[in-house]
Amino acid sequence: MVSFIVPCYNEQDNVFAFYEAFEQAFGAGDAIDWHLVMVDDGSRDATYERLSELAKRDERVTVISFSRNFGKEAAIYAGLQEALGSDYVGIIDADLQQPPATALEMYGILVENPQYDCVAAYQETRHEGALMEFMKRSFYEVFARAARSNTVVANASDFRIFNRKMANAIVNLPEYHRFSKGIFSWVGFKTYAYPYEPSERNAGTTKWNFKSLMGYAIDGILAFSTRPLHLITGLGICCSAAALLYALVLIIKTLIVGIDVPGYASITALILLFGSVQLLAIGVIGEYLARLYEQGKQRPIYIVRRRLNQMKGERDDA
Ligand code: UDP
Ligand code: MG
Repeated sequence: MVSFIVPCYNEQDNVFAFYEAFEQAFGAGDAIDWHLVMVDDGSRDATYERLSELAKRDERVTVISFSRNFGKEAAIYAGLQEALGSDYVGIIDADLQQPPATALEMYGILVENPQYDCVAAYQETRHEGALMEFMKRSFYEVFARAARSNTVVANASDFRIFNRKMANAIVNLPEYHRFSKGIFSWVGFKTYAYPYEPSERNAGTTKWNFKSLMGYAIDGILAFSTRPLHLITGLGICCSAAALLYALVLIIKTLIVGIDVPGYASITALILLFGSVQLLAIGVIGEYLARLYEQGKQRPIYIVRRRLNQMKGERDDA
């Protein structure tokens, strides 16, 4: 069986369209034993009502509805936990930007090539502004370096499908700050990169803006690398060396030309410089500490309010 996880947040106008496109691609008959795990991530529109209608119509549609918005990563995790009985698990957006027909091609590749554990779709060309494109490219470079990983497929989305072994490895990572792009590469396995061209959003608007993308990028790097901490140590060493050198210059100057009282500007500049370096260092440590704190509380990654057409024999919490 192949299960597709579909995170839905305020996607009321996409729910039926998605289901129809998916059914058309994967076939209404029994040729492929498919299942959909549609996760309502605390939508504030009629997404849940429409999903429950779908669940009534087709028992191959499982609906998990969160008590509030927990984010796409949490929705993916909930789907993975629900689909523990599937041989293959895929992730696809509800907005039809990732065509179900492409998902079918990816499924075909995975089934026919058992030497691969995962087929990941990636965007060959991006249709965004030059600045955005540059920033995204830089992110993948920084991330690959920071996480010392060379298995990150640049521009790879969460649009992918993998086998049971890889799904198990991902489910068994209980981290609170989930960054799928990093998790997929961290668990390893053989991944087939499949180029695709994302379509226009069917209805509604994207949930991303510049600020949330920046936050996402920083989260990703902090979740997969402790390099920023090492960079601060390096910065500290450089600053100490510079300070020592300056002290030497001052001592020699004092010995040769005597005490030179005016020095207001240089003292102010130095205080400001070292003050800000210290604040930066504390800030970076704080970012890690905050994540440690949140992980330490061991709060659940998501909370389920309602569950329809539960998949068989796997869970008993809702
Ligand atoms: N999504 C979600 N929870 C969120 C934000 C988004 O489940 O908090 C879902 C959304 O419904 C969609 C997918 O994640 O199915 C991708 O979101 P979006 O289309 O906004 O991202 P983009 O395609 O612009 O990267
Ligand atoms: Mg989208």
